[in-house]
Amino acid sequence: MTLMYSIAEGGLLCPSCAHIDPQATSIGGAVWQSMRFLLRAPSSRLAAFRLTEAEDAAMEALLKQTFEYRLEAPLEAWDFLRSIRLPGQREGREEQSGNRRSFDKSRNDPGAN
Ligand SMILES: [Zn+2]
Repeated sequence: MTLMYSIAEGGLLCPSCAHIDPQATSIGGAVWQSMRFLLRAPSSRLAAFRLTEAEDAAMEALLKQTFEYRLEAPLEAWDFLRSIRLPGQREGREEQSGNRRSFDKSRNDPGAN
């Protein structure tokens, strides 16, 4: 399932309202569910949180776009922060899952687009 997400409006747009924000971006249903989970889940459940690589990349892109929208400027620190990530963070190093998020490639990705 693909949903229309408006960074300017800060949420999903239904088909009737999609015209409100021409910049609205499509996101997969799994990405939306993950965002909701991260907002509401108790911290004790976050260690078990899993994303596919595609979902992780989609969420990261959305986060960056949201920051840049709010800051009204390119987020140049983003690339720096990425460059100093510890090994095992992101980049599909699922063998080092530990307490960090890891990727489950066996899971289907119905939200890919
Ligand atoms: Zn609507």
